[in-house]
Amino acid sequence: MTPNARFGRTFVHLLWLVTVATAVSVMGCGGSGQLTAASAAEPSDFVVRSGPGGAPLAGATVQIAGAVLQTDSQGRLASVVPVGAELQIEATGNLPRHTWASNNEVVLWPDTVALPRSDTWDLVYRDAPSQQLTRVEAAQVTLRLSRALAGDAEASSAIAESARRMSEVSGVRYQVGMAAAANGIVFDVDIDPTLQDPVLGHTSVRSRAGVVNGGRVSFRTLAAARRLNTTLHELGHTFGLLGHSADARNVMFASSSDVTEFSPTERSIFAMMRERQPGNRFPDIDAAGPAAASVSLAASLQP
Ligand SMILES: [Zn+2]
Repeated sequence: MTPNARFGRTFVHLLWLVTVATAVSVMGCGGSGQLTAASAAEPSDFVVRSGPGGAPLAGATVQIAGAVLQTDSQGRLASVVPVGAELQIEATGNLPRHTWASNNEVVLWPDTVALPRSDTWDLVYRDAPSQQLTRVEAAQVTLRLSRALAGDAEASSAIAESARRMSEVSGVRYQVGMAAAANGIVFDVDIDPTLQDPVLGHTSVRSRAGVVNGGRVSFRTLAAARRLNTTLHELGHTFGLLGHSADARNVMFASSSDVTEFSPTERSIFAMMRERQPGNRFPDIDAAGPAAASVSLAASLQP
């Protein structure tokens, strides 16, 4: 992640307190026992969905406990799916998902023209610690402005407006303030003249096991901090969009631009990130949950 000297650009630099908290096991968690077929008249209510709207997905292929099943026209599986069961799901237009049932539905991450896997990879996984989905879990992010920024009406207005837009797309409340809320984290926001031209901004994100727990946003100049595209871009990094997009329509494009609204693609990525636990890996591999871990342990103890 080096700044692009030709275009002059913001970049994100990552720091993490614990680089690899846990190895993610994606293989070898044993089957979860016998599947019980639901009666044809009364299929189970386990549903496979897709995308931010969670539309039911027909014709998805689900591998579970050695069986291969397909969802019906309502996205339902004609089988009981026990909590903790390991699932491998494939469906056209979606990233293949490897997960463990935690409730009665699974939402797939689309891979479409509107939400191409390249943007998902570039923005969410490529530059993340251990390439794990990393995001804010806290309900609130406080942006603690340095005196220089707080004293500049144009810069503080651009940051406040960016905070408003972040709150709208991320589901996390971003606000300018002095101290963290009880259930919140803090990013310090300041001017750092040691950043080298042409860099406009720089964001450091501290995270642990995919959970963002704070950091620092710096702008090289007051002029950079007054640019809505730049402030919004840097705040995008704070949520967990740790990479850059190759698409100029995105706020997270690798070069500065006049784009000041997150694109539909980026909005979908925010929504899908919220659907995922931190630590998920590309293309869409969840870490095994506690239920699955105990299933695995029980299986390994059998002769
Ligand atoms: Zn950047």
